[in-house]
Amino acid sequence: MTYLRANRVQLAGIVVLAGLLFTLAIYQYTQLGEISELERERMGRTLGWATSVTRYEFDSELADLYRDFQVDDREEESFAEQIAARYNERIATIEGPDILDKIYWVQLDEESGLVIQEFTGVSLDTLDEWPSEIASLKAEFADQLRNNEVQFDLPVGPLPLQDEIPALVIQQVLTRGPRPRETLADLKSISWIIATLHRDVIVEELIPALSAEHIFGEGDFDYNVGVTKADDPTSLVYSSDPALTAASFADPDAERTMFALRIWHFNQRVLTNRRIWRVVEESVEPKWSLVVKHQAGSLEAAVATARNRSLALSLGVLLLLGGAIAMIVVSTRRAQRLASQQMEFVAGVSHELRTPLAVIRAAGENLADEVVHDPDKTRQYGELINKEGRRLSNMVERVLLFARMRSGNLQFEYLPVDLLEMIDDAIASNSAWTDERSVTVAKEIPRLLPRVVGDPAALSSVLQNLVSNAVKYSRRGGTVTVQARAVNEDKELQIAIHDQGDGIPGHEIPHLFEPFFRGKRARAAQVQGSGLGLSLVKRVVEAHGGHIEVVSTPGAGSTFLVQLPAAASGSEGAR
Ligand code: ADP
Repeated sequence: MTYLRANRVQLAGIVVLAGLLFTLAIYQYTQLGEISELERERMGRTLGWATSVTRYEFDSELADLYRDFQVDDREEESFAEQIAARYNERIATIEGPDILDKIYWVQLDEESGLVIQEFTGVSLDTLDEWPSEIASLKAEFADQLRNNEVQFDLPVGPLPLQDEIPALVIQQVLTRGPRPRETLADLKSISWIIATLHRDVIVEELIPALSAEHIFGEGDFDYNVGVTKADDPTSLVYSSDPALTAASFADPDAERTMFALRIWHFNQRVLTNRRIWRVVEESVEPKWSLVVKHQAGSLEAAVATARNRSLALSLGVLLLLGGAIAMIVVSTRRAQRLASQQMEFVAGVSHELRTPLAVIRAAGENLADEVVHDPDKTRQYGELINKEGRRLSNMVERVLLFARMRSGNLQFEYLPVDLLEMIDDAIASNSAWTDERSVTVAKEIPRLLPRVVGDPAALSSVLQNLVSNAVKYSRRGGTVTVQARAVNEDKELQIAIHDQGDGIPGHEIPHLFEPFFRGKRARAAQVQGSGLGLSLVKRVVEAHGGHIEVVSTPGAGSTFLVQLPAAASGSEGAR
């Protein structure tokens, strides 16, 4: 009853724990989902911000050039001197890669039209021909001038940013401009600076440096950064990973237009100049697109991967916890079973000791009281005392053997052993049982049998145990058969002990060789025993290099098969 109640409490505990673990798992799952969503939003915002900053800093390089190379005809220095001063200041103060390549000065001359000069670093040299890298601009200038000849308050000249060259056309807004509707002849003060840019520096140094600073993060290359052309997204200008194509940047996690002049890069003072305002406002046409995509494919995919990893980790921890609980339950149950087996063992041993002791005491008392006078009766008493005494010794030996085995103190003496004699001894020593249960013991043993090498006492106890079990668990009046034969070309000896008992239920077979294990039927029928016999048998057989197995059919009896290595040939026991 108490055991049942304890079991029920334990079961309820297990169910509660399992329920708790399950609730924890569900809670963790939903929590992680929410955290991941927040994380995705946070990462998206941070990335958007980083991309904007990258674009801002890139475009501000262009605005710097535009501002720096505005010369002023109200200054005393010549244009060349002003350009040289600005140029030198820029060289002295620039940090990081310099995208500026060459500087040309384009002016409108009354007679010869467009005049081009190259800035050498100190002075301006007039060129006869437009250098090939900007030759295409000449036609654009001419066109613009023709079409806008009476509208010079509008920005004149090609767009400030030339993608292909690439160049920055800096219209000089601080030079004295003509009034509307004046003729070409009055326009000589209009001029432009063409600053060609190093495409290599832009693509190989500036963009990677800005990306590394703002987007990649600290040494963590989670993102791929690309630059595509705004008017042709399939054309890739830059990629942080050379293996990627423009298609790899489809559906980016963040995208910003870049390579444009922006109003916000010009301060209020500059913007009060109506002409620069117009130039900037009307020419803002970003040439490129800055696209950023997570290396996992997308931010969603990256967050999902991280979420799955955390989920696997926390589920793993929960599983570990569940496994640990299951193991504790299993080992507790095993400990409980062992404790109850040991209790049964103590009860069984005491019971087994009590019966022969009572018989011995009664016989002794009778002899002492001289109740028995007949010499035949005295002999019978003597035999009875002897038999019960042997039973006691056997029991004590078995317990001591078990204790020695457990403490690892068991030493075997290996000698050539003739099993034939031992089988006979085992049968003889069980004669009391056989008589009591009217069991017949039959032997099927060849005349010649190889010897084995082993400890005589230990091997003898093996045979005694198996024969005694076969008789004990046999049905009344049944037959126990002991067979022995050489197998495996005489290399091994097989002993089979077959009985016609009730057999062993399948679920008990795996426990048969555990110490203290006693079958349900044996306990119910109160068959004498300690549950130690088979565990000792197995240990001894295995210590001799052999093995034991059992084949049992419930209702039709059991067969215990022992296989032992035979001694070297030539040593055969004969009948
Ligand atoms: P004991 O016989 O002292 O109980 P053993 O270790 O020899 O202990 O055997 C363990 C259990 O195995 C027995 O309690 C019994 O249930 C079962 N058993 C052993 N031999 C037989 C057999 N020949 N037939 C049926 N059951 C057996």
